Amino acid sequence: MRAIVTNGEGDSWEETRDRPEPSEGEVLVKIRAVGICGSDIGLIDGGGPPWKDLPVVPGHEVCAEVVKLGAGVDSPSVGDRVALHQFIYCGTCSACREGRYYQCDEIQEIGFSLDGGYREYAAVPAYTLTPIPDSVSDLEACQIDSAACTLHAMDRIDISVSDTAAVLGPGALGLFGVQLLRAKGVDDVILTGTRPERLEAGRELGANKTINVRETDPIEAIMEYTDGAGVEVCVEAAGAGDVVNTSLKVAANQGQVALTGVFDASREIDPDDIVLKELTVVGGVTAAHAVEDVIELFERGDLTVDGIVTHEFPLAEYEEALETVRNRRDGVVKAVLRP
Ligand SMILES: [Zn+2]
Ligand SMILES: [Zn+2]
Repeated sequence: MRAIVTNGEGDSWEETRDRPEPSEGEVLVKIRAVGICGSDIGLIDGGGPPWKDLPVVPGHEVCAEVVKLGAGVDSPSVGDRVALHQFIYCGTCSACREGRYYQCDEIQEIGFSLDGGYREYAAVPAYTLTPIPDSVSDLEACQIDSAACTLHAMDRIDISVSDTAAVLGPGALGLFGVQLLRAKGVDDVILTGTRPERLEAGRELGANKTINVRETDPIEAIMEYTDGAGVEVCVEAAGAGDVVNTSLKVAANQGQVALTGVFDASREIDPDDIVLKELTVVGGVTAAHAVEDVIELFERGDLTVDGIVTHEFPLAEYEEALETVRNRRDGVVKAVLRP
């Protein structure tokens, strides 16, 4: 079978490998769709989490079909379509016992420390797979993890229907953020970003005010829009530039800020923004326990990948796919490989 491998030094290449056999507790799946995440590009270019183990097959935004069960596995069933949640954990350390398995002492992550979804078949532990209903498409299923990352961070703050909210960053996480805020009943949602086509997608998905930060200062524009009060909720989904500072500046008194972007370097902020306004600032880094909720939202039609998944490529065209994402060519928001 075909597999795409990276050494984390800027290179990726195709290898021919044997189809894996599922060990005890594992399931063999055929990959149907795998999203190219910004963190995959980061891994290929030298970034990634401390537990990365190279060379590795990238890819964690996976929709697959169950082909064969290893010993001791009774679910999912052969033929089920499933979504992957990429963390492998011990289940017995104190973080695992408290449900924070993604902070496990012995964490492994499919697509970073273990081979991921940029290949035709994979054998993975049964517990990493969630069966998905027929009404959720392959493209939606491979984005469950992205949407659930945003929802997990948003679940760490209290959002009420009368809030005005800002989403900073119109990538996949931010565009899911707009939809999730609308699904929670918030009707006043501001979206900021640099790319007109992404801001347009955000308007289609429910943002009623968009701000192009290349043309307009986002802090001034948001303060003006809210008559100087600021927003009750700010979801940061960019992980770049001075967006943390913007989040703190545009938050209202006792406002809440959820940070979801992963930054490659430290950033300067003014702590008095948090102290004097009594802000609540939380971070969120994983889909955690939000996966089932996101599946339900896709089923109900409250979430869509329209305007988010903009490109599909066969696995053999991975180079073009990666270049398209890396250089943000051709209006791409999310590109998906179809092995
Ligand atoms: Zn991702
Ligand atoms: Zn653990």
